[in-house]
Formats: sequence, C-alpha cells, structure tokens
Amino acid sequence: MYCKIICGTLLGIQGMLIDVEVDISEGFPKLDIVGMPGSIIKEAKERVRTGIKNSGYTFPYKRITINLAPAHIRKEGVGFDLAIAIGILSCERVISIDNLKDTIVLGELALDGHIRPIKGIVSLLDEAQKQGMHRCIIPKENLNEAQLIKDLDIIGVTNLREVVHYINSEYHGYDYGFNRDQYHAMKNPEYIQEDFSQVIGQTHAKRGLEIAVSGMHHAMLKGPPGIGKTMLAKRVKTILPPLSDDEIIDLTKIYSAAEKLLNTNRIITERPFRYPHHSITRASFIGGGSLAKPGEISMSHKGVLMLDEFPEFRKDVIESLREPLEQGYILLSRNHHVFSFPADFILIAAMNPCPCGYFPNSEKCQCLPSQIEKYHNKISGAILDRIDLHVEMMPIDYKQLKEHQSGESSQEILRRVEQVHAVQKERYINEPFSYNANIPVEKIQHYCQLTAKADNLLKRVYLQFNLSSRCYHRLLKVARTIADMTNSSVINENHVAEAILFKQDA
Ligand SMILES: [Zn+2]
Repeated sequence: MYCKIICGTLLGIQGMLIDVEVDISEGFPKLDIVGMPGSIIKEAKERVRTGIKNSGYTFPYKRITINLAPAHIRKEGVGFDLAIAIGILSCERVISIDNLKDTIVLGELALDGHIRPIKGIVSLLDEAQKQGMHRCIIPKENLNEAQLIKDLDIIGVTNLREVVHYINSEYHGYDYGFNRDQYHAMKNPEYIQEDFSQVIGQTHAKRGLEIAVSGMHHAMLKGPPGIGKTMLAKRVKTILPPLSDDEIIDLTKIYSAAEKLLNTNRIITERPFRYPHHSITRASFIGGGSLAKPGEISMSHKGVLMLDEFPEFRKDVIESLREPLEQGYILLSRNHHVFSFPADFILIAAMNPCPCGYFPNSEKCQCLPSQIEKYHNKISGAILDRIDLHVEMMPIDYKQLKEHQSGESSQEILRRVEQVHAVQKERYINEPFSYNANIPVEKIQHYCQLTAKADNLLKRVYLQFNLSSRCYHRLLKVARTIADMTNSSVINENHVAEAILFKQDA
C-alpha cells in the first residue's frame, strides 16, 4: 500500500513543499527514511512509532519505507513527524486519504501523541498557498502566525487523534478563519512607550534623525559617552510608518526561521530595533550555521539596526554590511544552496569622537592624534560611502536641562515623515527605488536639481573642503530630502546649507 502526504521544509526563510511518500509491504518489520533526511528527521521514527501507539492505534509490524521527495534537497526539522504518521495511518486505512487532497500537513509529534509547534510556519504556508494548496493542518500553537496567510483553510490541532477524527469526518467546525479585529488590535498598540518627546535638548540630533528617516538615509551619531545616542536611536522606529501587511509576513518569516517565535504564537507587528554588542561574530550578524538561520541584519529588516561603538566591531563584521547597505538583502551559501535573506534596515551607527571619548575637550582627552586617526580609520571608505548623514552631538548644558519642556511627540514627527515618503514614492513611481537615499549615482543630477545660488554654494564648499565626489553625492541626496521636507521641487541654498551641517568631517 502506498500513499503520499504533502509536507514542507525551510530553505533559509523560503518554504519548499516536500512529498512524504509512504510504502508499506509485508516483510521483515523495519522503518527506513530516505531522501536526504537530516539527523532530526531520522529520529522521527521513534517519535512516530511511539506517538501512534500512545494515541491508541496499532503500529504496523511490516516493512515501511518513507521517501522525502525531491531527494536532492537536504531536509531538516521536526515538522515531518505528523505527515509521516498520517501517511502510515493512511496506508493502514485508518485514515481516508481522499480527504487530504490539496492539504499540507505540518507538526512535530510528542511521544504521547500531542502535536508541538514548529518554526517557519508562515514561510511554509505562504509557499503552500502559492503552489495551489487549499488547506493546512498545523499545530494549534502556530495558529496565530498562520492567520497571516489569507487564502488557506487553517486547521489547528493539538493531538494525533484529533487529526484522524478531523480527516475522517471532514469536520468543518475547525475553520479558524482570520480575525481582523484581533489583528488590528495587535498592529496598533495603544501606546508607544518610547517617544521623542522624552529626549531633552539635542535639537540638532533630532532634526538629523528626522531627515534620515524622511529620506531613509543611514546615519552616524558622534559624541562623547553617555550623551544619549542609544536613547535617540531607540526612538527612530517610533517615527517610521506602521508596517504593511506584506512586511508583517516577511518579518514573521524571518523571526520564525531565526527560532525567535517558538512557543510564543506571536507575529511581528512592530518595526524591529536591534542593538547587537560589538563582540558579535560575523555568523550571528549576517546569519548562517548549518541550517542557515537569519542573523541580526535580517532581524532588523524594515526597522533600525543600531551599532554602538561602531569602530569596536570586528572588521569582518563591519565589512559584511556592504552588501546589505547596497542591496537591502544578503546572500549566504550553505549546503550547495544560495539563500537570500532580506536585510533592508536603517543603520544608526554611533561612535565616540576618539578612543577615550572626550575629544575635543583637551582637559579630559589624552588621546594622541595618531590614535584618533587609527580609531577613525577602522571604518572603511566603502562603508562610510553608504552613511549619508553624520550627526555631531554635544553635551547639553545646565540651562537646557533645567528649562526642559516636553518636545514634539513621535506622532507629530511621524505625520511629517509620512508626507515626505509620499512625495518620494510618487516621484520614483517608475523607478526600482522609492527613497532619496537609494538614488543611483547616474540619476542624482536628474533628480537633485539645484537653483543657481544653491549650485554656487555647493561649489564653494566642494572646493573649500576638498570633498570627494562620493561625499558630494551624499550631500546632494540629503539636500534633496531636506527640500522634500518643505515640499520644494528644486533644491535651494537653504537646503544645501542645512545638508552641509550633516556632512562627514573633512
Ligand atoms: Zn580622547
């Protein structure tokens, strides 16, 4: 007796459907799993055998062969258990296989027949839907994530008996549907704890970060320790527009594949803020390992990646930012397969002005000029080329501290940011990019038109500071964003003058 159940595996964050073929014949009792199963799948034998028995069914003492097709892909994970068990029970005619048409079956089996949640459920169901499946049977604890996939009937189950009962009776009370109200409640939390209004002073830095978010530019915060760089960076996500439905799906896929959602039944509805320590390894930063798990840069997708004490990061970590900063994703190759992970974030790098942190305060700073230069040189030109805005932060004086009044709220700033985003989306409607930060070099002249006065000013600055052409281009893009913030189609001298305040030191 032969039957086939549809299951799936993860390739990075991409789901792939796998046929679980089960053949049972008379002969010496034996269970073989073939088709490049990983070690965890090989152990499925014991879970399935015990799970079936403890659910009250007879495990066949026959020759059982299970093939996972296509065979050339290495499969990993515990999500095959349930499909294998259902295949065996179908071959033994405990289950009517006809009721499993266009259905994907996923879940880990516990020894007592309970079904445990698995990772990557959104990626797997998204792929199932694209391949024309109509229904999925999944662990009940994965239901919340699964609701993001809209055109599948979703059946959440807690144990093997329930699955058998469902399939045999075509029981319809299981359709969980999609609860829009609950979803929106999750999407719009009533309050945002962190808010720009809580930041005292630092008007220049706040303005810099608003420009950064308005044009989706990466930014560098420079200032002595304890000045509030992290406090500001944390609040950047509060002035980014809410995630779209597609972005929620992408982020939930990433966090699920990174095993951050196991047993939480969560979906990712807020823009991420990631803040890795400078001792992080390249593998945890960009992703990797034998299962190709997404790293910090992917977990920052559509949010903010804050790298404090930027020059202290390992050189290979800093350099690995090139590809994501350029393209918004990273390619990793593992087991002869190339994985593409999204990594489209705003980078907020932060650094001290010198190794001790107190330059240019000559009373406190003891650093030699050569030490300061060495510190700055740890960040290569290729990386600096991607950081359009440089924000110098100064300690706030006593007067400012005392006169602190609540500043603008994140909500007010966000309203402006959304308008500036709308202007750019309309302008770049026929382009492969949507924001000023991503204008390619060959289109900068076309999109960043200057008035005669602005052109003059820029020329003077270019000569005075002996700017590189790359630095000049970054200045133009920032000026473009500042002009958009006043809804001006051309860039005038005021826009250029403000952009100069945020250029990298010469
Ligand atoms: Zn110093």
